[in-house]
Amino acid sequence: MDKNMLEHKMETVGNTTMEQAYQTYSLLNEEVGRWQDERGSFWMEELSPAETPPYYPFVAFPETVVLELWERLNRIRGVIVSESVLRETWLEFKAGQSVSDPGLLSCLQIAISGIAQLLRARIMETKKDMLNAPLQDHQGELIHESAVCPICGEGTTLSVLAPPNGQRFLHCTLCGQEWPTKRVGCILCGSEEAAEQNYLNSGEFPGVEVVACEVCGQYFKEFDLRQLSVTDYIWEDVRTLPLNYAVEQWLAEHAKVSGKVQ
Ligand SMILES: [Zn+2]
Ligand SMILES: [Zn+2]
Repeated sequence: MDKNMLEHKMETVGNTTMEQAYQTYSLLNEEVGRWQDERGSFWMEELSPAETPPYYPFVAFPETVVLELWERLNRIRGVIVSESVLRETWLEFKAGQSVSDPGLLSCLQIAISGIAQLLRARIMETKKDMLNAPLQDHQGELIHESAVCPICGEGTTLSVLAPPNGQRFLHCTLCGQEWPTKRVGCILCGSEEAAEQNYLNSGEFPGVEVVACEVCGQYFKEFDLRQLSVTDYIWEDVRTLPLNYAVEQWLAEHAKVSGKVQ
């Protein structure tokens, strides 16, 4: 990794912008908390998780629950969006289409996450034993687990190393679920070839590494909780986005150099 390039990237995210973004994010999160308190028990009666994982993929969320929380978040932003626009945008988002309004999109993501967190708490009450059972092969070794969240079915690109021994877990930023995975290798394709994994970091973000995998051409982020404490993974992921930009550039350059076409 070219260090200068990384530092240049860091400068593009100024502190003021980050502070403003954090303030907005905190206000929206507080509203999610209020909604969970006021409406959580009602919705938990209404929503029934599946019997097997993924227990509640977000695409299966009823439109009414999504629109209810999303509208509240838009109001916090001081924006009134008609129900028909919200409905249409939700359908497009579920179908994997891009949402052009960034404010509308981030409120939707925070809303989905708020609903997923609620469902996760409920699912953990009933499926705890099943979810906490370590996934072992016949020799008792932990097997490579899929990077797909057993609760909400979202793919994760985030792993954490837990104190005191650095046991590795995958972390879902949508619902907050964590599940054990192998200690080494790429969390996305399972490759354990150390020579194929490139660890990129910056003194700016101690305890955070981005791992670029040359086998699958993807990357993921790893938080070492022995070096930093994380209270909000979504924000921590946003705060360390300069590392994503840097690794994306690195992967693009690297693909060019090695003649790979992505
Ligand atoms: Zn999840
Ligand atoms: Zn990989």
